[in-house]
Amino acid sequence: MRYIAAMASKGSKGQSSGADTPAMRQYRGFKEAHPGCVLFFRMGDFYEMFFDDAELAHRVLGVTLTRRTEGVPMAGVPYHSVEGYLRRMIQAGHRVAVCEQVEEASQAKGVVKRDVTRVITPGTLTDETLLADEQVNPCAAVVFHGSDSGGGSGGGGRASLAWAELSTGSFAVATVEVDGLADELARVGPGELLYCETADGEVPPRVAELPTGAAKTGRPGWQFRPAEASEALKKQYRVASLAGFGLADDDPAVGAAGGLLAYLLETQKRDEPSGGDGVLPHLRPPRAVAQTQHLVIDRASLASLEVESTLRGGDEGSLLGVFRRGGCVTAMGKRLLREWLCYPLAERGPIEARQRVVRALVDDRRFAEELAEALDALHDVPRITARLAVDRATPRDVVGLGRSAAAAEKLAEVLADRPPTSAWAERLDAVRGELDDMAQRIAAACKDEDVPAHLRDGGLIRDGFDAELDEQRTLKRDANRWLAGYQKKLIDRTGVASLKVGFNKVFGYYIEVTAANRVKMEDFLSDPDPEAGGGWARKQTLKNAERFITPELKEFEGNVLRAGERAVAREQSLFAELCGSCREQIAALHGYADVAAELDVLLCFGRRAARYRYVCPELVDTPTLDFAGARHPVLDELLGDGLVPNDVVLGGAKDYEADAPSLALITGPNMAGKSTYIRTAALVTLLAHTGGFVPAERAVVGLCDRIFTRVGAHDELHAGRSTFMVEMTETANICHHATPGSLVILDEIGRGTSTLDGLSLAWAIAEHLAGVGCRCLFATHYHELTSLAPGSDRTADRDDGTSKTLANITNLNVTAREWNDQIVFLHRVAAGAADRSYGIQVARLAGLPDPVVKRAQEL
Ligand code: ADP
Ligand code: MG
Repeated sequence: MRYIAAMASKGSKGQSSGADTPAMRQYRGFKEAHPGCVLFFRMGDFYEMFFDDAELAHRVLGVTLTRRTEGVPMAGVPYHSVEGYLRRMIQAGHRVAVCEQVEEASQAKGVVKRDVTRVITPGTLTDETLLADEQVNPCAAVVFHGSDSGGGSGGGGRASLAWAELSTGSFAVATVEVDGLADELARVGPGELLYCETADGEVPPRVAELPTGAAKTGRPGWQFRPAEASEALKKQYRVASLAGFGLADDDPAVGAAGGLLAYLLETQKRDEPSGGDGVLPHLRPPRAVAQTQHLVIDRASLASLEVESTLRGGDEGSLLGVFRRGGCVTAMGKRLLREWLCYPLAERGPIEARQRVVRALVDDRRFAEELAEALDALHDVPRITARLAVDRATPRDVVGLGRSAAAAEKLAEVLADRPPTSAWAERLDAVRGELDDMAQRIAAACKDEDVPAHLRDGGLIRDGFDAELDEQRTLKRDANRWLAGYQKKLIDRTGVASLKVGFNKVFGYYIEVTAANRVKMEDFLSDPDPEAGGGWARKQTLKNAERFITPELKEFEGNVLRAGERAVAREQSLFAELCGSCREQIAALHGYADVAAELDVLLCFGRRAARYRYVCPELVDTPTLDFAGARHPVLDELLGDGLVPNDVVLGGAKDYEADAPSLALITGPNMAGKSTYIRTAALVTLLAHTGGFVPAERAVVGLCDRIFTRVGAHDELHAGRSTFMVEMTETANICHHATPGSLVILDEIGRGTSTLDGLSLAWAIAEHLAGVGCRCLFATHYHELTSLAPGSDRTADRDDGTSKTLANITNLNVTAREWNDQIVFLHRVAAGAADRSYGIQVARLAGLPDPVVKRAQEL
């Protein structure tokens, strides 16, 4: 009846009737409320998807596509394995709204009430199952400033970026030149990028062009407007002004931060008057990241130095990959390690503060062991805190939080009397009180072992913690004793020794007698008076037995079931209370997690330094690099003793003479080790800026403002532009931005075009950079370039005012030897240019006929 009425009220909307059931109307309502989301619609034991979503699910998840009545495409996944399907949907860049049945189907009047309980997007994951420990997954928002904000693809102007991790509460903003935006994005590494949507619904060109793997999500423009954004931020943090966060109210980044906040609130359903309170308690105030605090490393450099992942892809064999292995103890440390490698510091003070701790860890092995042990007791505090804040903490989360909080005491002991860590010890002390409190409260309330994964059946709260809970539990527990007594009573009364009182989930409690004894029960069945032991009723007839129920047993059953339910309900409310009290300590938990994560990365640096014989780099302010026996940190692990260490001297030798050459040209045959050498110099320099030790026998590092790395183009196509174009664009960027404080690594620049053009360009670029005075290592196969350096015949008679520039250039070569008709690469870098005829020698060794080799030599 209801169904027909509902259909009639809908009228004729051109929809076929089968697609227009009440459930399907409900479905469409949710679909409209969550545009752009795949809707997982709970129907019984499945989440169903319909129409386009069903086809998408078929493609992405490989689930069977079926047809509902009237040909509506439909695909479903079983509810108990939904997390895996969610993960695949998100990994494929889609957003998912999960729609649950919010009332028991049996109690529903008409169509079951449903609601979207979570929206999961690539950038807003919080669930443990969807995120690996070490995975950082920020959600970012970008706002362009200037006349055509968001619209055209013109360069110039500035852009603001805000990024936050819902899973940890971190939140940061930065405003950069538009041409540096892609670089900043590469370091942030967002899973999702929000932008201001345009009227035509298309992704604006300059957003579309951003080279990021992030899913791009358009958002209403008003949320990015400074006034609205600033209001939203003030509401979130309950402040009258944002100045306290180092953000002026008119800071250009406010729009991006506000737009991002609005999105996070929406996905967590915190923006609704009914559900949320309009804030995310664990989201930290936005930290303004100034460009001057960090060594700038652009996207191309991060990629070609293989800091985070290798050029082949994956973090195996990257700098981060080798540091991660056996390095950090905690999940938050693993994540911070990535940040520290991608955001090396630019200022000496903070770097040296880290160095002092690393040195202490290297010198004092017991310190390292104790620290590792103390940190090992910590669970993933920031992520648990985040789940706590969005009401998704599990019993295990809370118990883990308690254990972590309790570990603060041990950590404080380890830090005590170790002066290099005093700054960390002080920060820890500032939150100790709150942590101890929390640890005690959790330990008092919660069991320590066999902690349940969820609270549907209770089992978390200790006996003796709460009188009401104890009472209900006693009732339940005493049930067995009562039942035993009741059974005995009935046996006495009926004289049937085999009578049993039993329980099963479907039928509840029952009295069972064998078929042979059935007749003996007739008396009890016919006696209506419960007081006299009668009032029996048949419940179930089995093949060999008969089951009965009595009013007395029925009443008992009610009491027991109610006691069980009450006990679970009581546990849930105690748990909610406990979570609430932990939520009040979010700031302390963040402070604690920060200290622990930083110490963990320092521990990682210390352990590596000890294990692989790294040294503490000496930091100086003169623009110099002076390494003895430097090793490539990744090859060092791979090759061990097979790796040939090399020296690097740029911009002044050990005594830092200012006018020593700052640019070195490196020549040598293919496979000699040129690329490895120049990367080693860059990676050692980078590591020195993180506060860690470096793989060398001795290292003096003049602090840098940027590290540039460019590799000459190969034949592959790259983002639709010609590779040579990319190479030159990137090189132009270096010529524009390199300062005397920069380190520039150029590998075979000019390779992407004809020899003459390439050589001329390489030549001009080398001259230009020598003029800038930045430290530069230039590996090249253009031997002609070596004549740029003083002492070679060609520079002697040049008189065009570039001689000073050229005095800034020196030649290095990577040696190889001919031995038993084989080329042996020594991988050793020496002063001077490579032997020009080397290529021809190689050709002869390779078996080219003698006349051909001779002719080649003549030419
Ligand atoms: P090039 O750039 O001169 O062609 P690469 O730097 O790519 O040479 O090095 C080629 C190979 O030589 C590397 O893959 C590495 O295995 C080996 N190699 C390079 N440098 C060293 C070194 N210092 N010690 C040991 N092996 C090295
Ligand atoms: Mg090379």
